[in-house]
Amino acid sequence: MKVLYDNKQIAQTVSRLADEVNKDYAGKKILLVGVLKGAFVFMADLIRKLDIPTEIEFIGLSSYEYGQQSKGKVKITKALECGVEGRDVLVVEDIIDTGLTTEYLLDELRQMKPKTLKLCCLLDKSIKRQVDIKIDYKGLEVPGEFIVGYGLDYAEKYRHLPDVCYLEDG
Ligand code: 5GP
Repeated sequence: MKVLYDNKQIAQTVSRLADEVNKDYAGKKILLVGVLKGAFVFMADLIRKLDIPTEIEFIGLSSYEYGQQSKGKVKITKALECGVEGRDVLVVEDIIDTGLTTEYLLDELRQMKPKTLKLCCLLDKSIKRQVDIKIDYKGLEVPGEFIVGYGLDYAEKYRHLPDVCYLEDG
């Protein structure tokens, strides 16, 4: 287990992203849609840096089944509990790897006719991207390794780690 970004670097990044969101959405109310489970820590830190009115929702998506390889298949594990039609929606993601999960989610949300739809993602594993995804608010670039900590798991372990780490081979 190696630390890639420590909690201080993460906090600085979250503050920068929140500043951008505060500026762009000044005078508006946004609906933050956090993607479970991984984004719950990021969402909690981000919302406390926002000074615009927000509402939060979570959607459960899973594309990895207790392993490190993306299956390219998305399963909804928890549906949204509110409508998004006519609202300014900001999706909050922990990490984007192939982009398949995010592409699926954005397509689903677009069909629900939000007024605006943007994407905020803490970790970008762009080296693994298979589809084109526009990240409106991008945190930190990560290499191709499997990332854990700060909400991200490996087989439901390591979510509690305060730093963004990667698992070394094996
Ligand atoms: P994608 O569809 O972009 O390949 O993967 C998206 C989802 O896969 C993320 O929301 C996350 O749940 C999971 N994922 C992708 N890469 C990693 C990683 O390095 N570590 C962990 N823990 N999950 C990952």
